[in-house]
Amino acid sequence: MRVLVLSDIHANLAALDAVLADAEQFNWETVWCLGDTVSYGPEPNQCVTQIQLLGATAVVGNHDWAALGHMDIDKFNPEARRAVIWTRAQLSAESMTWLRNLPGQPLVRDAFTLTHGSPRNPVWEYVLYPATARANFDHFATPFCLVGHTHVPALYIWQKQVSSVRALSPAIDKALPLEDGWRVIMNPGSVGQPRDNDPRAAYAVLDTATRTWLSRRVAYPIEITQAHMRAVGLPERLINRLSFGW
Ligand code: ZN
Repeated sequence: MRVLVLSDIHANLAALDAVLADAEQFNWETVWCLGDTVSYGPEPNQCVTQIQLLGATAVVGNHDWAALGHMDIDKFNPEARRAVIWTRAQLSAESMTWLRNLPGQPLVRDAFTLTHGSPRNPVWEYVLYPATARANFDHFATPFCLVGHTHVPALYIWQKQVSSVRALSPAIDKALPLEDGWRVIMNPGSVGQPRDNDPRAAYAVLDTATRTWLSRRVAYPIEITQAHMRAVGLPERLINRLSFGW
């Protein structure tokens, strides 16, 4: 099965549309969405609707939770807090219902565990280093785990013969075979707010039959998202960062 793997869309419809157009060539059969569909960007309801229409299997992210009012937003920085408060006021009853029904615990699909942050702390933990990845391999039973949350595409590979975990920045457009004997934590990067100094939208295509992972980047009209953000008064810092991917 070919899976379109999306994460951290963050209410950026122009980025999501560009990703979906680019991904058509891969004839994907299903969509996995790793959370943070809303907040930061200007189109929360449209992004929720699109993900619903795709019939995606989705998990909840920390921003989704915050927008629902499920957590104390004092943990967020001031701009993120403003974005969450704005998002909360925009969400339709339908979007709220969809977000509320997203699972907060990891989902298992075949050989893959799906979560937003990490398997041991699904909503909050960032898997940014091999040591964090290593600790998390004890918290899921499948060979592979898909995470989002960091907004940085990455693979953390644990070979059973070797005790250490190595990090790999996936090459764009080069299908990586997930070899027998590997356990891997993989992150497709962020559709709507990349943070690896590449402003293009990030996503991945996973083939569960041939066991390959393909990382993709796609340019989108950033200025459209920025104009919509400015029109609704979202923080300037959040608008600017999209140009640079940080
Ligand atoms: Zn996020």
